Amino acid sequence: MTTNTGNPGVSGEARPVIIQKYGGSSVADAEKISTIARKICDRADTGVSMVVVVSAMGDSTDHLIELANAVTGDTAPAARELDTLLSTGELVTSTLMAMAISAQGHPAVSLSGQQAGIRTDTTHGSARIADIRADRLRRELDRGRICVVAGFQGLAENEDVTTLGRGGSDTTAVALGVALNADRCEIYTDVDGIYTTDPRLVPSARKLAEISYDEMLEMASLGAKMNPRSIELGAVYDVPILVTSTFEDVPGTLIHGGEQMMEVRRAVTGVAIDRDVAKITVRAVEDRPGIVGQIFMPLAEAGISVDVIVQNASLEGLTDVTFTVSQGDFQRALELTRQVCADMAQDVVGNSGLAKMSIVGTGMQNGPGYAATMFDSLSKANVNIEMITTSEIRITCVIDASSIKDAANALHNAFELDAAGD
Ligand code: ASP
Ligand code: MG
Repeated sequence: MTTNTGNPGVSGEARPVIIQKYGGSSVADAEKISTIARKICDRADTGVSMVVVVSAMGDSTDHLIELANAVTGDTAPAARELDTLLSTGELVTSTLMAMAISAQGHPAVSLSGQQAGIRTDTTHGSARIADIRADRLRRELDRGRICVVAGFQGLAENEDVTTLGRGGSDTTAVALGVALNADRCEIYTDVDGIYTTDPRLVPSARKLAEISYDEMLEMASLGAKMNPRSIELGAVYDVPILVTSTFEDVPGTLIHGGEQMMEVRRAVTGVAIDRDVAKITVRAVEDRPGIVGQIFMPLAEAGISVDVIVQNASLEGLTDVTFTVSQGDFQRALELTRQVCADMAQDVVGNSGLAKMSIVGTGMQNGPGYAATMFDSLSKANVNIEMITTSEIRITCVIDASSIKDAANALHNAFELDAAGD
């Protein structure tokens, strides 16, 4: 920023910057927006510079998508128009929130993604943030205003509005945290933190006081509620992220670098559950170079992500290959695989009612015995393991969806996750 007016930014920039993000259910009506505005004012009065990122109210993004589909019928809505349409959902909230804050006596300004300097690539519907030109935001903070930024949107190089993909406001919030060198980014939501596993399945599930970025990434991509892109961003630029409840005054869970974990370290931090798993098996396919490439290339071209892959040791030149996809991609993946394998495999079969159960924990790295304990506790609970895969900090078993509850309880007990750890 260049300016000739005296001493820009000194007072504002000396204050710590806090980013807060409120999800759609937190800002679903006028009353909720006013209640949150009050809390925001109280926090700003403690002498911090505040940037508040908001999602669209309630289910309004879904309603806008329905409208787009209703006017286009069988034709898909144009991606450019759809993005501009969806961006309006967040604009409704940001302007209302700025009004509510001003009405309670604190200066505030709403900013669209564009006005907040968020530049993206041109991928409509799932744009990536390329750059944040934060001078406008800094100027507003220096003037003592609370900035309310519309989440989930930015501006591409060709000046068209883009959106960052469903749940993208988390990413907006963390990206602004990076650009403004914020002390931390606070995500306010309808759950009050990250739990050791799904409390609806395991009543003794415990809220974690803290979790490392790496663990959270595994938990997030495996079903805990949080946009994985925002956690990746936090990890790369080391912005601590607090996940906490909007309306209850509870501590929440801090996602951070994991260096000074305050919690007594345990090897396994949580049990992640992913219910969106389908499996395809190619039976008795020829075992020669190039075959697996031929099977997976058409899936890649169709934009289908393949997850767990297992190839069996071959017997008499034939082998079985099994892989998982999401349930939404299952039928398409099955058809594509059947087409490719028509002449080179005996059979292609699949089923879709599966789940992935994973134990996750940085403390497991290089430690022996975790896999054995996992398999043993699943077998004692009478849960059949269909596939197994691991990363450095995760062991995953694919099981039948009907066994999820038994498996979750067995693993939660086996790794003593309900014992007070903080
Ligand atoms: N409103 C958008 C959605 O519903 C973005 C967000 O909530 O983060 O996906
Ligand atoms: Mg939403």
